Amino acid sequence: MIKITAPGLVIKEQSIGEADRLITVLTAQYGLVRAFSRGAKKTKSKKLAATSLMAYADFTFVKTKDAYSVEDAQVKEVFFELRQDVEKMALAQYFCELAYEFCDEEYESEEVLRLFLNALWLLKSNKKTPLFVKSVTEMRLMSLSGYMPALLGCDKCGEYESATMYFSAENGKIYCENCLPVGQRYCINASVIQAMRYVTLSDFEKIFSFTLKDETLAKFAEVCESYLLHKTQRKFKTLDFYRTLIL
Ligand SMILES: [Zn+2]
Repeated sequence: MIKITAPGLVIKEQSIGEADRLITVLTAQYGLVRAFSRGAKKTKSKKLAATSLMAYADFTFVKTKDAYSVEDAQVKEVFFELRQDVEKMALAQYFCELAYEFCDEEYESEEVLRLFLNALWLLKSNKKTPLFVKSVTEMRLMSLSGYMPALLGCDKCGEYESATMYFSAENGKIYCENCLPVGQRYCINASVIQAMRYVTLSDFEKIFSFTLKDETLAKFAEVCESYLLHKTQRKFKTLDFYRTLIL
């Protein structure tokens, strides 16, 4: 029998029968941990809150044969405020779906966990707009997951910055007006490029610490989402739902 302890964020929760849950927890050291939590749905269970979607808790997991189960879970934060705002809740669920897509079992995930915890905390505290939090999270997640876009200059001639440049969501490269290739690309101004560089290259502590004018944020958001969707080549149900709310 192996026993591990780790703080983690519940990113998926499934009911098993009347009383049990199967949860997926994002931990720093062990990546995703899938674990059964017996009796977790009983109202008197100490594990009820700690094994709910988006709960951040100190977990003790026990592994017998090939399956983990939750031996103990002490809740640290449940992000309750997010449940009172449908737009924030939708985004938080999208973050959970992203974590499930990008993370793996037995794979160190400290920075990704920090990213999602910070994103949820910022959503909860109203310190940044939901669209800003979403976009920064998407772009930083891509960088952390091996898809850092090449933003240091035009891919052909090296031009660092001009009033108008173009970003290809297909290959993650930027181009100046003179070197523009065929294919789908986004026309972006210097402010959008600076924001993209800032989010991909800054120290983690700083990535949410900037502001954008509304129109720059709108373009930045378009680019971040499009890049993520191009690289994953899939649909996210939670993102589709979020879109229905903001239209
Ligand atoms: Zn060029």
